[in-house]
Parts: sequence; structure tokens; C-alpha cells
Amino acid sequence: MPEYNFLIVGAGFSGAVIARHLATHTNARIEVIDSRDHIGGNCHTARDAATGVMVHTYGPHIFNTRRDDVWNYVNQFAEFGPYTNRVKAHTPQGVFGLPINLLTINQFFGQTFSPAEARAHLASLGDHSIEEPQNFEEQALKFLGRKLYENFFRGYTIKQWGCDPKELPASILKRLPVRFNYDDSYFDCVHQGIPREGYTALIERILDAPRITVNLSRPFDPAERTKYEHVFYTGPIDAFFEHRYGRLGYRTVTFERVDATGDFQGNAVINYTDAKVPYSRVHEHKHFAPWESHEHTVAFQEYSKETQSGDIPYYPKRLKADVELLQRYVELAMQERAVSFVGRLGTYRYLNMDQVIGESLDFAHQAVDALAHGKRV
Ligand code: FAD
Ligand code: UDP
Repeated sequence: MPEYNFLIVGAGFSGAVIARHLATHTNARIEVIDSRDHIGGNCHTARDAATGVMVHTYGPHIFNTRRDDVWNYVNQFAEFGPYTNRVKAHTPQGVFGLPINLLTINQFFGQTFSPAEARAHLASLGDHSIEEPQNFEEQALKFLGRKLYENFFRGYTIKQWGCDPKELPASILKRLPVRFNYDDSYFDCVHQGIPREGYTALIERILDAPRITVNLSRPFDPAERTKYEHVFYTGPIDAFFEHRYGRLGYRTVTFERVDATGDFQGNAVINYTDAKVPYSRVHEHKHFAPWESHEHTVAFQEYSKETQSGDIPYYPKRLKADVELLQRYVELAMQERAVSFVGRLGTYRYLNMDQVIGESLDFAHQAVDALAHGKRV
């Protein structure tokens, strides 16, 4: 009898949620592996040894969702502290609240607009010659006009994505709301918070179930897939096929610790929208846990660059050539009858935590159903 029925590659949210569902609803023995020496994937958190501040190791992670089922799910495994992300943008014209809201508009244009007046003002600035925006820049010019686009978005986006905003899909800008009221919460969501003891403790509890074994520092070798009844793969889809057709484009980020003490910047996240500033944002991690008190501080400047072999893939770029290449990998993936490709990297999509949890729950539900009926997962 094989030691394990199922292999789950990746101990991030996707892998952990699927493992837990399979462990709860089947009698299978499940091995979860990760090439890193810790669980949590890119959501991993750990306390800084010197200050005790909880650090989001791979960049700031704020849990936000509209889905009640996802919110209830994570709350079974951790207590969430109340946190609302309120980002500030350090721009060539001064410091403003982001996303663009009524205060941003009034301060930026030196006005005292009502919601309706602000809406009309932005409409008057928009480029009406653009009918259906085909890219990031057109989306910005149509709905915000050139001044707001250049002050808040152009420089940041070039730094973040390393290409002309005309090459990027409009969907990236649509992630950010524009509000004609004074709500300055970064996310449009119903539920928002951060686990008091960090994401790693939360994911550890998801994985803490009978018949789940976690093996860390254990990279997956595609040749071993035949040893399992099914493999749930949450790594990069192109890496699974050893980049046979070439590499999908990803941006990676690096962090440089700032020599800081006390309260360094007075907020968790400040974006730097000026292209002349080399970093895209600065995060000060004690502000992600306002329920804790820390005399000292931990802050990082974040730099974005193109991935090279060995770098951690962070943001799927999904340029036209990437989407075409992805299609070729998806065709190969369809031929893998005993492997499912899931999660942000397995499907090469820009997904937030709540989306990968929601999709993993839905997917695991279907998988259990298929297994029960002897069908293909
Ligand atoms: P991952 O977390 O990437 O986990 C995949 C795991 O698979 C990794 O641990 C990796 O080591 C492992 N793996 C890959 N290949 C192999 C292999 N061959 N062998 C063994 N192991 C392998 N979302 C939000 O909701 N809110 C936020 O504020 C937010 N901020 C973000 C900030 C940054 C900088 C980034 C990059 C992402 C952010 N996200 C945020 C998105 C969030 O990180 C993802 O939704 C989430 O991490 C996806 O989980 P996953 O399990 O699919 O992938
Ligand atoms: N963006 C920008 N200026 C900012 C913040 C965001 O131009 O100050 C753009 C950028 O292209 C980014 C996109 O808006 O990729 C979506 O922002 P979001 O905060 O969702 O990006 P994330 O950091 O989650 O990738």
C-alpha cells in the first residue's frame, strides 16, 4: 500500500485548504510538501527576533473579502484583529489618501466638491474619445483624466510592472475603487482584518488534521507523480512542465530594511508614485497590528523587478504573449489525468487570499464528490 494517497504541492492557502477538506471528507492519507522551509506560501508571517513585531515576510497581506463563507472559514482557525487598510500615496504633488476618494479629489484640485460635483468633475476630465478601454492607460485616461493618472498611477505602475501601462490589461486598474465619498478604506469589502497571531499560525491550524503530513524543504519532482492517486499542484504551471515552451512572465519584489526607530512613517503602507523614487512603497509592520504595542519598529522599502531563474514568482504579468503561452501549458495540463493545477501559480492568475481560499474550497468539494463516484478529479 502506498504511504500516501494524495500529494499536495505547496503549503500556502491553496494547498492547506484542499488538504484540510480532503482530510475531513475522505479517509485518504495526504502528504503536503513545500520547497520552502516554512508553511504559508507568500502569506507567511514571523515575529522579528529583535523587536517582536509580526512581519509579513513576503510583503503586506491584509485579509479582505465579500464572501461570508470564506470569512467564516478562516475565523474557525484564527482570531482576527480589526484592521482597515488606509494607504497613503506620496506623490509629486504631496501626500494623499488612496484609493482616490472625495478627500483626495478635493485636496488634489484644491476644491470643496460635494460627491455629485466631484463625480461631474472627473467625468469632465475623462478622455471621451476612448470607448472601450483596451489597456491600463486607457482605463485611467477614460475615467480619471491625465492629471490624476500621471500623479497617482503612471510612475507607480511602470515601477511595479516594468513596462508601459499601455501593455497592461485594464483589469489591473479596476482592482482599485474610485469613491465619491470620504471612505478611504483601500478595499471594497464586507470583512477585513489580520490574524492576531499571523497567517502562518492560521495555516498551521488548517493543516493540523489527522492523516495530513507536512514535509518542508522538499521540492516536487514531476517524475514522482505516478506514486500518488492524485497530485494537487499549487506551484507555477510552467515550472511543472520544466518550462518546455518558455517562461511565463512574473514580477518579483525584494525588500530592503529601513534603518528606523519609533514610529517611522505613521502608517502601515505608503506608496511612492513618483517614477524617480526607486522603490514602490514602504511598509511598517507594527501598524498592521494596532492591537499590539511596540516601542521599536520594522519597515521595508519594496522594489519590483522582472523574475529571473531562482527568484520567487510574485505577480503574474499576463501580457498578451504570456496568455498565449499559458494556453499551451493549459493544453499540456489537460493531458495530466491525475494532476490538478490550482491556486495563484497553478492557474497563473492574480488572485487574492480570499479568492484562492474560496476557489480551493469549491474545488476540493468537487474533488471529494468525484472521488466518491469514482470519477476523474
Ligand atoms: P502561494 O502562497 O504562492 O503558495 C504556493 C506554495 O507552493 C509556495 O509556498 C511555494 O514554495 C510552493 N511551491 C511552488 N512550487 C513548488 C515545488 N515545485 N515544490 C514544492 N513546493 C512548491 N492577497 C490578499 O488577499 N491581500 C493582500 O493584501 C495581498 N497582498 C499581497 C502582497 C504581495 C506582495 C503578493 C505577492 C501577494 C499578495 N496577496 C494578497 C496575494 C496572496 O499572496 C495570494 O493570494 C496567496 O499567497 C496565494 O496562495 P497560494 O497557496 O495559491 O500560493
Ligand atoms: N497602482 C498605482 N498606484 C498606486 C497603487 C496602485 O498605480 O499607488 C496601480 C498598480 O499598477 C497596481 C494596481 O494599481 O498594480 C492595482 O493596485 P493593487 O493595490 O491592487 O495592487 P497589488 O499591490 O495588490 O498588486
